[in-house]
Amino acid sequence: MTVIDIHCHTAGIGAGDSGCFISPKLRRSWKYPIYLKSFGVTNTELEREGDCLVLRRLSERLAASSRVQAAVVLAMDGVVDSRGILDRERTEMYIPNDFLARECRQHPNLLFGASVNPLRPDALERLDAAAAAGAVLVKWLPSIQGTDPADRRLVPYYRRLAELGLPLLTHTGLEESFTRADNTLADPARLRLPLEEGVTVIAAHCATSGRSHGEENLARLLPLFAEFPSLYADISALTQVNRLGHLPRVLQHREIHGRLLYGTDMPLPATGLTSPWFHLFRLGPVEARRLAAIGNPWDQDVELKLALGMPEEILFRTARVLKIDQHQKHS
Ligand SMILES: [Zn+2]
Repeated sequence: MTVIDIHCHTAGIGAGDSGCFISPKLRRSWKYPIYLKSFGVTNTELEREGDCLVLRRLSERLAASSRVQAAVVLAMDGVVDSRGILDRERTEMYIPNDFLARECRQHPNLLFGASVNPLRPDALERLDAAAAAGAVLVKWLPSIQGTDPADRRLVPYYRRLAELGLPLLTHTGLEESFTRADNTLADPARLRLPLEEGVTVIAAHCATSGRSHGEENLARLLPLFAEFPSLYADISALTQVNRLGHLPRVLQHREIHGRLLYGTDMPLPATGLTSPWFHLFRLGPVEARRLAAIGNPWDQDVELKLALGMPEEILFRTARVLKIDQHQKHS
């Protein structure tokens, strides 16, 4: 059975005419060299070989994993202005669908996760194009893209997603990877609208961080699982140092085990934000040492999560929810 990482990022600076874009502010930030390093590339290499290098490195590293066979790599649409045009001033990172779809076709183990800001005037056509280009889901970062999932103007967009059978993977809880974010938009209660419109919704990071309206975000997500069978959550990033204890906290809720999907939030686990040593108290020194010795970041992530109590079945669910048969993609 195929194990798919549902949450994997790429990066790009626009090299090789990729159309990718990183804001000067993020590029100057201390996070930038750490991100590049975690992707196993340098700025010079990127400029020489193009942004496709990041995907090649991801694909190679993933191919070396004995646990995970494929990953959904996520495009990232930007902020749009009042006319619906990409606002480069307010966009920190932009990874266009066209570029990513093309690159994912080159690598059998990378699946195309599209991103379409619903406030674009041609959002529905963009969804159609993404589906035609082989997208397996659509990713949103509302707190960065400035979109409110509860906005009723988005109903036609949701209906199109449902028609196309494209799940919506959307960030829930605090967002800390960029230089600014509007965290009120990541309140899981705002997902009621797409769920009512029949969309399969995947709450990224299972809303384990932050609070909305005086209540923990996770507590606001939990009741929706009982109400909507098409709601899922990914467990990406839940072992990071800024999220210690989050995975066990989610796993306490046995009634949602059947809705959890395996994901990593790569390359963040490879930035030093995740280490078995951060979980020493739960794992004990022998187990922490065994896990720390695993070199492949995907293998280490799987083993760490299993050691922290993740039921093995969670690994195999993504392929079913995304209706992907690995053999199908490339036959
Ligand atoms: Zn992410």
